[in-house]
Amino acid sequence: MNLTPVLHVQQDGDVAVLIIDNPPINAASAQVRRELLMAIERVDASDDIRAAVIMGQGRGFIAGSDLREFGQPLQDPQLPEVIAAIEVCAKPVVAALHGAALGGGFELALGCDGRIASQACLLGLPEVTLGIIPGAGGTQRLPRLAGMAAAVELICSGRRVSAVDALKSGMIDVVADGDLRAAAVRFARQACKRPVLAMPIPEASVEQLDKACSLALSKGRGRPAVQAAIEAVLDAARLPAAQALSNEREAFQRLRSSPEAAALRHLFFAERSAGRLPKADATPAMHVEQVGIIGAGTMGAAIAVAFLDGGFDVTLIEQSPAALAAGLERIEAIHAKQLHSKKLTEQDLHQRLQRLHPSCAFEALAGCQLVVEAVFEDMAVKLELIKRLDAVLPAETIIASNTSYLDLDVIAAASARPGLVCGLHFFSPANVMPLLEVVRGAATTSQTLAMALAVGKRLGKVPVIAANAFGFIGNRIYAAYRRQCEYLLEDGASPQQIDAAMQAFGFAMGPFAVADLSGLDIAWRIRKAAAPDRDPRIRYVAIADRLCEAGRLGRKTGAGYYHYADEKRLVDPFVETLIAQEREKKGLVPQVFSDADIQQRLLGSLISEAVLLLTQNVAQQASDIDLVLVNGYGFPRWEGGPLFWARRQDPQWLDASLRALATASQGIAVASVEQVMTVLATTI
Ligand code: NAD
Repeated sequence: MNLTPVLHVQQDGDVAVLIIDNPPINAASAQVRRELLMAIERVDASDDIRAAVIMGQGRGFIAGSDLREFGQPLQDPQLPEVIAAIEVCAKPVVAALHGAALGGGFELALGCDGRIASQACLLGLPEVTLGIIPGAGGTQRLPRLAGMAAAVELICSGRRVSAVDALKSGMIDVVADGDLRAAAVRFARQACKRPVLAMPIPEASVEQLDKACSLALSKGRGRPAVQAAIEAVLDAARLPAAQALSNEREAFQRLRSSPEAAALRHLFFAERSAGRLPKADATPAMHVEQVGIIGAGTMGAAIAVAFLDGGFDVTLIEQSPAALAAGLERIEAIHAKQLHSKKLTEQDLHQRLQRLHPSCAFEALAGCQLVVEAVFEDMAVKLELIKRLDAVLPAETIIASNTSYLDLDVIAAASARPGLVCGLHFFSPANVMPLLEVVRGAATTSQTLAMALAVGKRLGKVPVIAANAFGFIGNRIYAAYRRQCEYLLEDGASPQQIDAAMQAFGFAMGPFAVADLSGLDIAWRIRKAAAPDRDPRIRYVAIADRLCEAGRLGRKTGAGYYHYADEKRLVDPFVETLIAQEREKKGLVPQVFSDADIQQRLLGSLISEAVLLLTQNVAQQASDIDLVLVNGYGFPRWEGGPLFWARRQDPQWLDASLRALATASQGIAVASVEQVMTVLATTI
């Protein structure tokens, strides 16, 4: 087979410049490794060459390994072999880094005799975020340059580091000011052999190292890759290098074929395919720099922060000076938190505040290319607002609604520009949560959608396209899950048992603890409003209503499904009695549920609703649903999302799960096992 070369070798005097050219991200594929190995061998053998530079063509150095190779047998030469060749090569080899130098790319750089990076370069070893550990010496070489504690922190968090910070911590030798290639050639000419593996490990403070390890372990709760990464870094100090390298490689190989790694790879590819439009539709309506946000309440204030963080200019509108002042206080409180956690410097904050323009006059929105409304969840308020907006906005400005449940098509129809109206459904807290549902209404044009997706990506969110349907994707699936939680409660389980079972599965919090945290009053208000139209054939559980009537609105009132004292969540006999009374009213004899029964019912509810929603085209693809549940609702990442997880289950388990669901759910649609199997067989 005649392959197009992915490595160009050029000569700059006595320096060989090896340029990796494997678009789009210069992944370290088998062909790249093969051509690099041959080039290094030629450099070693050549009398005319005194040193070599390895660099990347295009946007960056090497952004990582070729993940498509991961599900397949290993292909030679592997990266450690290429790095070994660099180390034994008699000539110094330096890495010239720009764009992204991540994963295998940064490991290759660590295997060189020197590292020079451009100002904007980002470096890191994000392998644990994919359920593996660096497998080409990263866990051995990084501690020798940056120290043990820093290596544990960087590898276990998968954090990316700027060139300036990398220089400070010793990860690189030089930050290049001007032309990277010219600076790298000069650097290579003066370089000598300096293999990192031969360097001593800097003295580590035991206390700092312990702190880094315990922090990583607590953040990486029960995740095998984090544990393995720590062991590998600790090996660097306690074993001969060859033995430690071989242990690292063995752990890498083992984790590579683990279920966790497969799930995380699934999410990686899911993110890349989410929000991808057919090429003809993918041109955004316009470039967005100035954004208007209307309403500075819980959501509007945090959305404003998200846009400021994303580098946009923000005009923030409220209905009165008092409401505006309250909104600005909310923004200040978020910024104070960001400063406290060192996510923001005083200088960044100053810059951001210069881009924030608060006002009570709608005319201030006239320069905006995009306006996001986050006013009360009330159709009459939203419709009046849309009409006022039409009067002040340029005809081409896009209007996005942050509504959670209202009909986007009704909102769009009130506007003179229905094609330019879409939904941007942020999740609370909007500046933190990665999920963004981009809602396509019946009239929304492809260019509007493309622009909304582009904005979402620039905000660093995971944008997922949803059709205009009640609750879009996430809230609709979560409502189905919540409904089953209530049924289980009435049928015999307790809030604490259900919460513990779902936490044991891997959810960050159980459903009742989440409900208490968000407050029970909003859902209560919605239920009361819907009461006159409620279908009497649908099973209704009144436990939550009774709690609210007793003034138990969740954490903010000190009690909900639990009682709260001294920041502790406590089981409350009052709730147990209340549940028992509700069972008695309906003549229900409490059943005994095991944790496995609870998990089977609740995971079944997620799977069933996801499948119904896919068959109704509310979501475009199964992997989008996995992204929504993982990024917005605490579904454990390492399980890959409900549909990825379902695919690994025994069909008999799925069948039993759906039957139990149907039995408990009078009047509620439940997917059939055939529908589920078809979706699982054809769409992931
Ligand atoms: P909120 O009550 O905290 O804030 C609404 C703000 O809008 C208030 O500050 C109010 O003064 C302002 N406002 C009302 N009418 C206005 C007008 N005509 N002009 C200018 N400002 C006006 O509400 P919220 O929780 O921030 O929710 C806002 C929207 O976001 C709703 O549509 C809601 O469904 C949606 N949402 C909320 C959440 C959440 O968790 N709270 C999550 C996702 C989406």
